[in-house]
Amino acid sequence: MMSTPAHATALHALPDEAPIDRDAAMVAVGDLLAALGFDPDEGDLAETPRRVADAFIEMITPEPFEMTFANGDAYDEPVVVRGIPFVSLCRHHLLPFRGTATVGYVPGDRLVGLSKLARVVAHHARGLQVQEALTVQIARTLETALEPRGVGVVVEAEHLCMSARGVRTETALTMTTVFRGALATDPALQARFIGARPV
Ligand SMILES: [Zn+2]
Repeated sequence: MMSTPAHATALHALPDEAPIDRDAAMVAVGDLLAALGFDPDEGDLAETPRRVADAFIEMITPEPFEMTFANGDAYDEPVVVRGIPFVSLCRHHLLPFRGTATVGYVPGDRLVGLSKLARVVAHHARGLQVQEALTVQIARTLETALEPRGVGVVVEAEHLCMSARGVRTETALTMTTVFRGALATDPALQARFIGARPV
């Protein structure tokens, strides 16, 4: 069994990390409502700044988790968990994007509990994200924690900044992929990973 306290710390060294000022966020949301022509003190809008501030705070606060390693029986085939649902916040529009991640690795000496793969996705989904960075961060975390022979991450998401406004591409899904190690260099392994994706 191994633990990774240093790694757990590194997970929280996010570039955006700074103290959250909930009161200032509530004032700012009230100011936004006023700037958009609404009276933030009127009726059911009165509680909106608090609700919005708390919603944003929840969505940008990463859930802590620890990687714990199972004793493996020298399993050396790909481990893939597909269709892990997530919701994140687009850092360009502050609107949600949501979808699924398919995450897998080809083990080296370490195996990780399957639920931890979903936890890695949930951890990195919190924050102001862009999908490409989210995909890379999930892969990087698995590489660092597991030192696997290969890592694959496929993220498919609907972005509200595209579907609810702008070009209104309501059914468009954006797909991003990262393949590292054996999953990048071994076409047969990658094909098996891709084949495990939901269609
Ligand atoms: Zn956006």
